[in-house]
Amino acid sequence: MRIETKAIHSGMDVANPTKDIVPPISTSTIFEIDSEGRNEDDLHYTRLGNPNRLQLEHLLTELEEGEAAAAFSSGVAAATAVFQALNPGDHILIPEDVYAGNRKLVNKVMVRWGLEVDFIPMTDLDVVEDSIRSNTRLIWIESPSNPMMRITDIEAVCDLAHSKEILVCVDNTWPSPINQQPLTLGADLVLHSTTKYLGGHSDILGGAIVSRHQGRIFQRIQELQKLTGAVPSPRDCWLLCRSIRSLPYRMRGHNENAEHLARFLQNHSRVEKVFYPGLATLSGHEIAKKQMTGYGGMISFFITGGREEAIGIVGRSRLIKRATSLGGIESTWEHRRSSEGEGSITPENLIRISVGLEHPDDLMEDLENALADV
Ligand SMILES: *Cc1c(COP(=O)(O)O)cnc(C)c1O
Repeated sequence: MRIETKAIHSGMDVANPTKDIVPPISTSTIFEIDSEGRNEDDLHYTRLGNPNRLQLEHLLTELEEGEAAAAFSSGVAAATAVFQALNPGDHILIPEDVYAGNRKLVNKVMVRWGLEVDFIPMTDLDVVEDSIRSNTRLIWIESPSNPMMRITDIEAVCDLAHSKEILVCVDNTWPSPINQQPLTLGADLVLHSTTKYLGGHSDILGGAIVSRHQGRIFQRIQELQKLTGAVPSPRDCWLLCRSIRSLPYRMRGHNENAEHLARFLQNHSRVEKVFYPGLATLSGHEIAKKQMTGYGGMISFFITGGREEAIGIVGRSRLIKRATSLGGIESTWEHRRSSEGEGSITPENLIRISVGLEHPDDLMEDLENALADV
């Protein structure tokens, strides 16, 4: 089946004995068992598993072409499970421009827990190879990266990692499985903040890990999901399944609108440089072309001027909302350095936009107005 069909039908018949076309929200925290403690779907207690979570996990597994998935209450909870599936003393390689929340998670929690870490330019294969140690167990990839859209060759890093029996986890939040499927490029694990495109309407917090194999590492992640308990509620699982039904068509809209806006910005006199994977001017464009089927809804750009001008521009939009995060049907933008706060290395003249599904002409009018000299 093609991905549009999978998005609509996958998971619907899991733990759904009454064959509801739309499975209900299972609010019960407990499930009746036989005298030996069993039941048909192996459901006992909702932290350990429930129908809505099973439906969601089945759906995510299908979308990423994996063998199994585990859903979490947030993207960073999912990342925590991946790191804790390793052992204290293991070494991990993380991109130097990794999502800021994951950088803090590694530095403030996982290092204290005993992981050794190096933050490296993941786009440079020679640096990746030189950074591998005898105790390196995991390489983390985020491509395109935030906010500079650096592109990592997923297949090349996976080949290198696997030659040394190292696992690869790809944070696929930005592209979504519609634009990029890392497991088919050789990755072992895919991470999602389902808060973003998969949720798509800025009203769900969630995360997930999808695994290429049912093997040891995934079993440990699933065990951590149940033992540490950072699980999504049945209602959130249900709503996320509902949202994912339209994901392929939403992503087409995001891709299309962002391509329009990227070209518009590129030709604007107040814009110095545009970072968008679909533009030939981006240094990683050729790799993006090879491993992505669409270029996504995120654009970063440098304006002519500095902090004051950038903040002024962001303040002048009427349609595009000022907000952080991404992936909603509504367009949002931000002066990224202000959002990242202390320790940010993002240039002061960078604006990041999450392009929504409004009519592109309305978005361009709003941009034109905000970029006009005042
Ligand atoms: C938002 C985000 C996360 C973290 O997800 P939460 O759901 O906020 O915990 C991880 N990676 C990327 C790329 C993100 O954008």
